[in-house]
Amino acid sequence: MLADKHQERTSLEQLGEFGLIDHLTQKFPTAQESTLKGIGDDAAVINHKNQTVISTDLLIEGVHFDLSYMPLKHLGYKAVMVNLSDIYAMNALATQITVSIAASNRFPLEALEELYEGIALACKKYGVDLIGGDTTSSTKGLLISITALGEHLEEEITYRSGAQPNDLLMVSGDLGAAYMGLQVLEREKEVFKVNPNNQPDLEPYSYIVERQLKPEARKDIVELLKQLEVRPTAMIDISDGLSSEVLHLCKQSKVGCNLYEDKIPLDPTVISATEEFKIDSTTVALSGGEDYELLFTIGQKDFDKIKGNPNLTVIGHMTDASEGAHLITRSATKIPLTAQGWSSFSESE
Ligand code: ADP
Ligand code: MG
Repeated sequence: MLADKHQERTSLEQLGEFGLIDHLTQKFPTAQESTLKGIGDDAAVINHKNQTVISTDLLIEGVHFDLSYMPLKHLGYKAVMVNLSDIYAMNALATQITVSIAASNRFPLEALEELYEGIALACKKYGVDLIGGDTTSSTKGLLISITALGEHLEEEITYRSGAQPNDLLMVSGDLGAAYMGLQVLEREKEVFKVNPNNQPDLEPYSYIVERQLKPEARKDIVELLKQLEVRPTAMIDISDGLSSEVLHLCKQSKVGCNLYEDKIPLDPTVISATEEFKIDSTTVALSGGEDYELLFTIGQKDFDKIKGNPNLTVIGHMTDASEGAHLITRSATKIPLTAQGWSSFSESE
């Protein structure tokens, strides 16, 4: 699971900055009609027909990712997903990205090649163009900043602020898996430190580990909603845990919310992992984070259109702001939602 120390190493100095940029970006054809000029000039040129949405994220080694269990190819892929997820959360379609990296001399060319392989895979799969970036050195570790651009018609862009009382609160996919995947990887890392010859059996955890290492942004949900002719009234992506995102929707839309514990979608492997780790599954869904699912509200009139769709779950409804935001537990107790979930979350973050 740890990096193979015997692979080829071409130092970054050998290539120089321009050689490195050329080398890393050579396999990035542009496909979007709106990309007039990609990599290679002082700036890229874009011609979006609709409104442009932009989002940026900065990822720092040791803070946002740990290379002892995160293969660089996965890191490149995930870094793109994190950004595309923000574009889809505006109900827009992603069109271009820029990628900026700072790497210390610990990273040979081969490592950055792997990172860019993951970025290329993500671009291809999601149909976005890499149109630029910046490359520099760092004194310590690896930093990646990605900016994603997307576009949509003015009236279709969905903000966090549009939810109304009585709207249904919906979530795509299932929650908590990425957090439990991280728990498994952290545990195996500790085992590896003690006994490097121990090969972990991650097979029973493949779904949750994959959700941590190789998340997918929900472009399919944006397309599905369009196809069903459902326009969400408000939307946000779940990066920090369900409860924190519900509170963002409530605050920005000036509404309250009742969220039902028994409706929160959990994969069976998440439930078994929470039992093994002796953590409460609701706490994991509420506070775990990195799910990159979409949380959105719809008018009640649209319920028939989404009813029974296996990708979408109604988990609650919005209320008047004066009622506040609450979790209705399985035993029908009403508990105020906090950004940390509803009970004090464990010390791990
Ligand atoms: P400048 O000095 O004008 O900023 P650079 O020499 O840094 O230009 O970059 C040359 C071209 O390569 C530009 O189009 C830039 O956007 C692109 N580029 C630089 N670094 C990266 C990178 N890490 N990933 C993708 N494109 C990059
Ligand atoms: Mg530059």
